[in-house]
Amino acid sequence: MFCCPACGLLCDDLELNSTSPLSIKNACVKGVSFFEKAFAESSSKPSVAGKSTDLNTATQAAADILRKAKHPLFAGLGTEVQGMRSMMRLAEKASATLDHMHSEGTVRNTLAMQNSGWQTTTLTEVKNRADVILAIGTDIVSSCPRFFEKLVLNTDTLFNKPKPEIMYLGLAEESVKLPEIMNALNALMNAKNPLNKKADNDLIGGVTIASLKQILEKLKAAKYGVVVWSASSLKFPQAELTVQSITQLISKLNETNRVAGLPLNSGDGDSSVNHTSTWLSGYPTRNRFVNGHAEYDAYHFSTKQQLNSSDALLWVSTFNAHQPPACDAPIIVIGHPDMQFEKQPDVFIPAGIPGAHHTGTMFRMDSSVAMPLKKLRNSELPSLSDVISQIEAKLA
Ligand code: SF4
Repeated sequence: MFCCPACGLLCDDLELNSTSPLSIKNACVKGVSFFEKAFAESSSKPSVAGKSTDLNTATQAAADILRKAKHPLFAGLGTEVQGMRSMMRLAEKASATLDHMHSEGTVRNTLAMQNSGWQTTTLTEVKNRADVILAIGTDIVSSCPRFFEKLVLNTDTLFNKPKPEIMYLGLAEESVKLPEIMNALNALMNAKNPLNKKADNDLIGGVTIASLKQILEKLKAAKYGVVVWSASSLKFPQAELTVQSITQLISKLNETNRVAGLPLNSGDGDSSVNHTSTWLSGYPTRNRFVNGHAEYDAYHFSTKQQLNSSDALLWVSTFNAHQPPACDAPIIVIGHPDMQFEKQPDVFIPAGIPGAHHTGTMFRMDSSVAMPLKKLRNSELPSLSDVISQIEAKLA
């Protein structure tokens, strides 16, 4: 059995039946697609200025760029724990700013948590205890395809509980109405709020007051309610305030019964990278090293802001072939061998895919379990840590 790193669930029950054609027991479509790309024959080679070269020349060119840079940006950061440890070491030496490609969503959660704290749960608790699940602004399966199979329909639970009731609120195009809807839900929790006197068929953000009251009644009656949201799906300004409304509602409900939150992550190693960054520097990404000291700024240290002032970009994306953003400064890319470029970066180094070409460690999206990733295929591709070690040695 092996673990799939293609989404935050990190299912660890996959079994390889055959490699050609690829057949993996228990993998969802997203997982199969991930391993198909990882196992595909690749002729990808390191390149400098678009010309194929060897690893030694490419790492030398990368070191030359970083040596000249005063404010490099290390972005993308699609990697796992060991890869991120290497990136942190190099960032300290190069005085770099670090930002994960999915930080926009992560920061919404971080700001809400910093402001007022939150009560969250684990996937195991959802499986064993949840009797009511409210999904806000997400269908859950788009980001975590086996969520229902593993946590909702699974009858192998500790307490022989019935299948939980599922409610959805504010999907896709309606998600922009969530700030209004969440405010209304919080207001309806207060019996004296004038909203409680409005007619049941009045609409708030396109939802009847009767429906909102029904959602609250089900959560109040739950033995173990779970509220799920995906911060990356909340694509509207100041979405962190909506995350805060969600966490406030959970907190209020906990005055009388048990309700917990479950924030979904966005993948590409975001949870693993931010945990590693936090224990090594004291901060999640959107941090930087200045004279060996770490600083943090959730706004100014974003990739978008830093692209204006950085004098080198090191883009890392080992799980998926995500392209680097446009940038005037020299660009080094270390990543998925499938990576295709509209404009060739100054240096490209194809790297092994964690959990397929080399071992690794990842944090599940509930942050409670660190899962080992196996090496499933021999590959000549170096791991991100190997590449970074070579760059470091040449930078000295
Ligand atoms: S649900 Fe996620 S972790 Fe599980 S097999 Fe699918 S992509 Fe992989």
